[in-house]
Amino acid sequence: MTLDTDHALPPEDVRIVRDEASGLDAIIVVHSTALGPAAGGCRLWSYADRTAMAADACRLAEGMSYKNALAGLPLGGGKAVMRAPDRAFDRRGLFRAFGRAVEKLKGSYLTAEDVGTTPEDMAAVALETRYVAGLPVRGSGLVGGDPSPWTARGVFLSMQVTAERRLERPLKDCTVAIQGVGHVGAALAGMLHGAGARLIVADVNSAAVSRVAVATGATVASVGGILSAEAEIFAPCALGAVIRHDTVGKLRARVVCGAANNQLADAEDGLRLADRGILYAPDYVVNAGGIINVAAEYLGWTPSGAAALIEGTADRLVRVLDLAEAAGLAPHAAANRLARQKIAAARSSPLAAAA
Ligand code: NAD
Repeated sequence: MTLDTDHALPPEDVRIVRDEASGLDAIIVVHSTALGPAAGGCRLWSYADRTAMAADACRLAEGMSYKNALAGLPLGGGKAVMRAPDRAFDRRGLFRAFGRAVEKLKGSYLTAEDVGTTPEDMAAVALETRYVAGLPVRGSGLVGGDPSPWTARGVFLSMQVTAERRLERPLKDCTVAIQGVGHVGAALAGMLHGAGARLIVADVNSAAVSRVAVATGATVASVGGILSAEAEIFAPCALGAVIRHDTVGKLRARVVCGAANNQLADAEDGLRLADRGILYAPDYVVNAGGIINVAAEYLGWTPSGAAALIEGTADRLVRVLDLAEAAGLAPHAAANRLARQKIAAARSSPLAAAA
């Protein structure tokens, strides 16, 4: 098993945007527009400095390009990061200023909510630009709103694939350890319970974990113990970088499949999993339900159009795992290769990509 040798794609555009009056200090990265507008959320975080902001924005924007490409969306990848002002600020004014910066990019970047931002913030952005999604939902039966159930559905479908492939049994004969039962983790627990799987759950929020345990009959594990829980499948649904050089050895599960973004601290950790015979379902392949929901809202798709693309998650994962096996690659490297190939093909033949 090897890491891939093809290289990360550089971003097309990196902009520092500042607005003295509102306190806006942000970086917008347009990683790739080969497949469409560079779509990716806006993160509000307490960054130490610009270097930290730029590193986070570039890494996240590249990830969005790959996620959107593999999900089959007519979107490229981008990201905005915003430094939380260290003085009192007018939130609406801040996001309006950000909206003006997005508008200046004339549609090359499409923003949405992310960590630290809300649908109401996006409503403020929308006063200045139409290149925004993740707005508060008006009316029922529409796409948009909380993307978590959609994300959970894609993870659930992916888990079925990994259970059949690595464990040779259906989910009803599996125990799944879920780390984090927030929006996605709780929805996933409900789906797995419905499918007859046994559950072990952990969360730093004791109320959240109790709610899920009562609803699903899950066993509760300690926050420190969930990684080594006696389960066939480990589902990270809390934080990134949970798979690290010092945690891989603790896993008892034979499959890692969950919603959290950037589960591997390092690409080498994907190899470490493979070396231990643990099948890793690449995070951005299985958790694309949320961005599909955002895309559906922005592009005006019907709920059934979005649902069909989410149901295709299982097929997309099979393609990645097949390539990994055939090429002797770790699954995350196979996913990166497929995504980069798709973006490179669109760069060299934009008309074919649009067709
Ligand atoms: P959330 O904040 O609703 O839930 C996260 C949960 O993890 C919370 O209940 C929190 O208490 C818990 N948690 C935090 N630290 C923990 C720890 N050390 N151990 C155990 N639990 C811990 O977030 P979410 O929307 O459910 O998203 C979960 C993950 O999935 C995040 O990494 C997110 O980036 C990713 N993701 C979410 C979506 C989506 O549609 N919401 C889409 C793609 C990816």
